[in-house]
Amino acid sequence: MGFRGILGHEFVAEVVSSPHKDLVGERVVGEINVVCGRCDLCLSGLSSHCRNRTVLGIQNRDGAFADFVRLPAVNLHVLPKGVDDDAAVFVEPLAAAFQVLKQVKVDPKKWVTVLGDGRLGLLVAQVLRDAGCPVRVIGKHADKLALCEKWSIRSRPLSDIAPRHDQDVVVDCTGSAAGFELAMQMVRPRGTIVLKSTFAAGKPLNLAPLVIDEINVVGSRCGPFREAVKALAEKRIDVASLIHRRMRIDQGVEAMELAGRPGVLKVLLTMDT
Ligand SMILES: [Zn+2]
Repeated sequence: MGFRGILGHEFVAEVVSSPHKDLVGERVVGEINVVCGRCDLCLSGLSSHCRNRTVLGIQNRDGAFADFVRLPAVNLHVLPKGVDDDAAVFVEPLAAAFQVLKQVKVDPKKWVTVLGDGRLGLLVAQVLRDAGCPVRVIGKHADKLALCEKWSIRSRPLSDIAPRHDQDVVVDCTGSAAGFELAMQMVRPRGTIVLKSTFAAGKPLNLAPLVIDEINVVGSRCGPFREAVKALAEKRIDVASLIHRRMRIDQGVEAMELAGRPGVLKVLLTMDT
């Protein structure tokens, strides 16, 4: 997004000041889109696509890697005790994973593949399994695929895959053009590809398979916080296994570099110094 400013959009915080006095002192997570409520998209129920929106730590709004952060009260969700701070930090990406269920119908009879064993791929896979879908994860990292085994989710290394145009749904969480190309080879005619991450294609992408096989492509971004909080409170999703390391905010630059390395899942920043 070309954003310059304070980063950070996955956070847990305590409310220290609000005109809504009942919120003060509560432990909260926050939806990241701040919307106008007046534009045509807001008025038609598409406020997450508000034309005038700012997005925490991403677009025209300083984010959460700071001592204090501001959000409208309407964006906040008070956390139940059953969701500890570590788990709470995953509400935002987990909500994005739940968004897949809002957009695509899955059932136990459908063949569904998640491409990519990064943070989001592993959350999406758990959400689909939780919805009763016999999902399979394709990835490059043996340790991540071992996590799938722990969760009773089928997985295969990328090197073993021979695409057969036989999947009803492919959720691409690779964030790469190569992932999207593979998804086009894996999905069946009239099947669905869900794109969960944006990528900047460095080479021309051949979109002919979309036409020839009449494939639906669904872009998918933010999702329902309430469902994510509930799933974490009910321990239906394991996020603790995704935490790679905890670091202090004064180690923030180092933490960013670590989080950017291939194979590293989640690095948590704490505000304690
Ligand atoms: Zn709006």
